[in-house]
Amino acid sequence: MMGLDFPFVDTIPLGEQCSRANQVAELATDEDVVDRIDRDVAFQSDTVRGKYWRGVGSIEIGTDSDDFPGFQAGVVLAHEVGHAFYDAWSPDSGIEEHPRLFRTTDETEQAVALSERLHGPMVETDGPFVDYRKGSDEELAAAVFASRIIEPTAAQRIAPDAVRRLEEVFDDLSDNLF
Ligand SMILES: [Zn+2]
Repeated sequence: MMGLDFPFVDTIPLGEQCSRANQVAELATDEDVVDRIDRDVAFQSDTVRGKYWRGVGSIEIGTDSDDFPGFQAGVVLAHEVGHAFYDAWSPDSGIEEHPRLFRTTDETEQAVALSERLHGPMVETDGPFVDYRKGSDEELAAAVFASRIIEPTAAQRIAPDAVRRLEEVFDDLSDNLF
């Protein structure tokens, strides 16, 4: 669904990132992976720009164009849609042990690299980023998904194994995703 990024591999305009995220959000809504998306949400915490409500299937976005690139609307929306696909993939039952999406050290390290590239290391924050700092499988999946959507060429260059694994898993959920 996306063209090649060259020559904008690492400098994709924010408007283009947004339009890529909007396309995937529309697809997720059409396929009932996401129920609804609310934009211009005013979050209480000033470190939060987006939220996916597990079980409800809704996404809230509240971004500010003055923020750093990792908090821009396209990245945040794509990341939250990534959570929705992860939710659709992960088992509903609490009985079985939750399987990890990224299984090998290579996959996990590459996922961390993409996550830090997009969202920064966040080493000095706590609260909403605790899961992220712990390298939560779901947070990493959302980050790899966001990168794969808004900068597919860079994502595949930097994290080939992690991206391949994500495509393998999420492709089963949507024929039209990648
Ligand atoms: Zn997240």
